[in-house]
Amino acid sequence: MPEIAALSDLRKNIRGDIIGRNDQGYDKARRVYNGMIDKKPEAIVYCENTTDVINVVRFAHEHELLTAVRGGGHNAGGLGVCDDGLVIDLSRINFTHIDPVKKTLTVGGGATWGDVDRATHAYGLAVPNGIFSTTGVGGLTLGGGLGNLTRTYGLTIDNLLEVNIVLADTSTVTANKDRNPDLFWAIRGGGGNFGIATSFKFRLHEVSTVYAGPMLWEMEEADEVMQWYREFITSADYSINGYFAFLIVPSVAPFPDHLQGKNMCGIVWCYAGDLDKAERVFRPIRKVGNVALDLVGPMPLPDLQSMFDDLYPPGLDWYWKAGYLKEWSDESISKNIKYGSTIPTPLSGMHLYPVNGAAHGVDKDETAWSHRDAHWVENIVGVDANPSNRKKIITWAQKYWEEAVHPYSTGGAYINFLMRDEGNKRIKAAYRENYNRLVNIKTKYDPNNFFSVNQNIKPKE
Ligand SMILES: Cc1cc2nc3c(=O)[nH]c(=O)nc-3n(C[C@H](O)[C@H](O)[C@H](O)COP(=O)(O)OP(=O)(O)OC[C@H]3O[C@@H](n4cnc5c(N)ncnc54)[C@H](O)[C@@H]3O)c2cc1C
Repeated sequence: MPEIAALSDLRKNIRGDIIGRNDQGYDKARRVYNGMIDKKPEAIVYCENTTDVINVVRFAHEHELLTAVRGGGHNAGGLGVCDDGLVIDLSRINFTHIDPVKKTLTVGGGATWGDVDRATHAYGLAVPNGIFSTTGVGGLTLGGGLGNLTRTYGLTIDNLLEVNIVLADTSTVTANKDRNPDLFWAIRGGGGNFGIATSFKFRLHEVSTVYAGPMLWEMEEADEVMQWYREFITSADYSINGYFAFLIVPSVAPFPDHLQGKNMCGIVWCYAGDLDKAERVFRPIRKVGNVALDLVGPMPLPDLQSMFDDLYPPGLDWYWKAGYLKEWSDESISKNIKYGSTIPTPLSGMHLYPVNGAAHGVDKDETAWSHRDAHWVENIVGVDANPSNRKKIITWAQKYWEEAVHPYSTGGAYINFLMRDEGNKRIKAAYRENYNRLVNIKTKYDPNNFFSVNQNIKPKE
């Protein structure tokens, strides 16, 4: 634990701000997106630039402090904060530079995807990212990144060209396919294990208006819809994305009164192909079962990306259990319907994200993200505003996962959907045959495991 005097030395050395235990705003500064996380670091350091990051890493070494790195603070396991040590907050490093000719974006390591979408949309361009605009570029990218454009343009890491990183020894390096290629391989899926990314450079795609939005069905139709979806999304044109969900219909517009509060199933679509063909593409989809609500239509991509932000403000309790699936058997579908019909709180649900289409165009050893042969990531999401419902959402998610997800999964899960303490076995199962190579690269770049507040890959002793 640093002396107050030592913290004031750090204050002199950085351009950003430091909020210590006794400073005003400490409780706000230590908060992350998941309200269930209640960590009390010694100080939160808001870095303004790479020099600040280097100075804080050096300070942490000198004082032997556990150090967490916070990008968007969205991680459900709360990996952007720790007890007692330091939090290196990157949120002020959030510039965006777009080269419209080369179609590239360079973005600060602490930006959110909302920052990116707003900037790139002005040029009619986009980087494939997630489904919430409040999520951080840093954590989502380093873990892989899947969302509304995955089937069309691949995972976020498949569009990553270069990263600038502050390493554990405080040196700064560039990693791309030619410079430090081992590091570039590892950070595409290996999370925050290897250093602090102060900037990311991405390839941009021409995506502006998409034909998108939710389509809902009654639970009685779930079996038919799920069986149809299973076949459709594994062979559909790459321009079509759609994740399946069990949900309680939100009690807000544009959801109609008669459906609000109802347990239903649905698909959130995103068609990024030729808009003139969109109606034709969706004609057969609209004939599946009896569609109870169809909010699918043309919209600017950032509207889709931020569609659910307001429903899920920061500070709610989140508990997740996830798994990669290669197939969705009839047996697992019926077990899914059992649990999908007993959603415990209005914001909880199940999401099934496809990881096929363009994401299958990259080999499983080309990046650290090994599950290129999976078709989906299934995530059971327990969410509520009231801490007295914690047990309820955790029990439901665990039971759902134990009975209806894990037995049918590869055994691994997307690391960005793991909770904090799921253990080394789960991390190994996420990386499978890529794990040993990750250990070797970790040992080279971070031999003392300075970057340990993450889904940790331990270096060799
Ligand atoms: C509501 C919600 C929606 C989500 N939707 C999606 C989705 O659609 N697709 C998807 O793929 N994931 C999604 N996620 C998961 C998300 O990708 C992870 O939670 C991710 O870790 C968040 O990144 P962050 O920077 O906001 O998180 P943080 O909590 O700030 O950090 C998470 C981890 O990444 C590390 N990290 C962050 N930035 C950096 C950096 N610049 N350099 C080095 N390490 C860094 C941190 O040290 C920490 O270990 C969602 C999460 C939530 C809560």
